[in-house]
Amino acid sequence: MEVVFLGSGGGRINLIRQVRATGGFRINSSSANIHVDPGPGALVHSVKMKQSPLSLDCVIVTHNHTDHVSDAQVMVEGMTHYSLKKAGIFIASRNVIDENGISPWHQSKIEHLYIAKWGEKKKFETKKGSFEIEIIELKHEEPTVFGFRLYLDNRIIGYVSDTEYFEGIGESFTGCDLLIVNCIKPESDAYEGHLTIKGVMKILEKAQPKEAVITHMGMKMLRLGPATVAKELQDKTGVRTIAAKDGLKLEL
Ligand SMILES: [Zn+2]
Repeated sequence: MEVVFLGSGGGRINLIRQVRATGGFRINSSSANIHVDPGPGALVHSVKMKQSPLSLDCVIVTHNHTDHVSDAQVMVEGMTHYSLKKAGIFIASRNVIDENGISPWHQSKIEHLYIAKWGEKKKFETKKGSFEIEIIELKHEEPTVFGFRLYLDNRIIGYVSDTEYFEGIGESFTGCDLLIVNCIKPESDAYEGHLTIKGVMKILEKAQPKEAVITHMGMKMLRLGPATVAKELQDKTGVRTIAAKDGLKLEL
């Protein structure tokens, strides 16, 4: 199984300037190929990195913000074989569906559309096998946002999408082989509804994954040096932590 980062940037300014790409990440496994949070550039970077949307089994959009959802429709068009057949799994927050994150026409092309509900665990069958997803509560400007634990190929991949830090969040992500965390801001640039390095540190302390990746980094994080931040997180939490780069491929 591999995880491919089609982008490692986040934040309003980076989103427009594309200092780091914003295509989200993709999981390729023997049971499913899954694209998570296809923001601007997801399609272009997928094609460049030979990650064809035609071979997707599932698209996950954790909330209805541009940097997570903007390329979701084209990913659906790939997953449904140029929109020619009804196919694939689409897992999205309530607002992605209710507030036109993807159009009703695109929704009609999807075989299994699932609106994520906190606390629910769902199993999905694909052409190649099956996987399970457990939907985890987060707190962000988009009130229906979610994080998840994915169970596939005997591994558990967790994803902490955009959220503020709150009591109990770390505990809800325990047991992961790999935990991907959106670490958008340093303390000096703290912004309501978003994790700072300190919040990420507290999550890693509690969740104790085998390995962690920080991604979705904003301009101030990039200036600080993501590798330095990852090292600091690793030293303080004991969790092996790396900072994502555009195009990073992780074998699991
Ligand atoms: Zn957001």
